[in-house]
Amino acid sequence: MGFFMPTKVLYGKDIVLRNRELFQSLGETFLIITGKSSRKNGSLDDVLDVLERKHVYIYDETPENPPMEVVEEISERFEDVDIVIGLGGGSPMDTAKAVAVLIENKHLKPEDLYDKSKYQSAKPIICIPTTAGTGSEVTQYSVLTVNGRKRGFSHECVFPKISFIDYKYTLTLNESLTLSTALDALSHAIEGFLSTKATPFSDMLAIESVKIIKEYLPRLMSDLANEFYRERMMFASTLAGMVIAQTGTTIAHALGYSLTTDKGVKHGLATAIFLPYELKIAKKHGCQKANIIIDMFDGSMYEFYRLLNVRLDTLITDDDIYSWASIVINASHLSVTPGKYDLETIVEAYKEVRERFC
Ligand code: FE
Repeated sequence: MGFFMPTKVLYGKDIVLRNRELFQSLGETFLIITGKSSRKNGSLDDVLDVLERKHVYIYDETPENPPMEVVEEISERFEDVDIVIGLGGGSPMDTAKAVAVLIENKHLKPEDLYDKSKYQSAKPIICIPTTAGTGSEVTQYSVLTVNGRKRGFSHECVFPKISFIDYKYTLTLNESLTLSTALDALSHAIEGFLSTKATPFSDMLAIESVKIIKEYLPRLMSDLANEFYRERMMFASTLAGMVIAQTGTTIAHALGYSLTTDKGVKHGLATAIFLPYELKIAKKHGCQKANIIIDMFDGSMYEFYRLLNVRLDTLITDDDIYSWASIVINASHLSVTPGKYDLETIVEAYKEVRERFC
């Protein structure tokens, strides 16, 4: 067993502004990949401030669940940059990772991102998360949308070189984004803990992350401007990201992807609603670690979700369920998830979620 997470993590309030010299030393030409919200939460101003007198290109139209076409467009438009900055939630950071590979390796086609053997390096990536949940700032993963389906690639060369993590950018997140991103972090921690690739190193981080989210997420949801609670969630999200950098995600993520691509359900919400089912199946197959998590939630996660008012405003038909299940049955996540899953078990997962949350 081992632990590998080579990103330099700089964490704390005003962490970008306090590292002006470091930013200045990184290179001459920067590409900032972001969305519109970075203009409102103060993060883009901070980054532009510390990049004073550098050449800075900004791409601020990253959509949610970024399609490969966007990655391709950015890579063609900004060919010559030294550093790629992913600023925002998972979408800009994951886009930045893919773009950093394609700019460095000009001969690659976008689909080559999924063939690890075709490249070994990327332009240096800097990540600055403005939500607390994705963990992308400390992982080697990038999840893009290819032909309408979520498809992740993984390569050590896309671990960010440095991540600047400041909870203050999350202070203006609304209720629904706060909840869905926090639930993504919770999914990372629990799925990573259950994963057959978990190690005692990743388990320590996972348990700490779950504890923090269990304790502070309900408080944060009734006090969104509370800096202490915001900081706790950012910390838990970072820990959970470090967990999945070791373990990857398990079946809850695979089950949630179709709800996001086909029904527009936010990623963290779409994923977390499957955790009770994943725990139930793991427990049924004798996975002791499932009991540890279930005990942390006093016997059932459903009560915790009720407290957080977790629900789905989505119509799910039987046809949806069968078509999604036929995708999940082939997902690589299954091989690292404890318990046995056949088509019927997967269909049951969707039916249980529909019954509980719709
Ligand atoms: Fe996730």
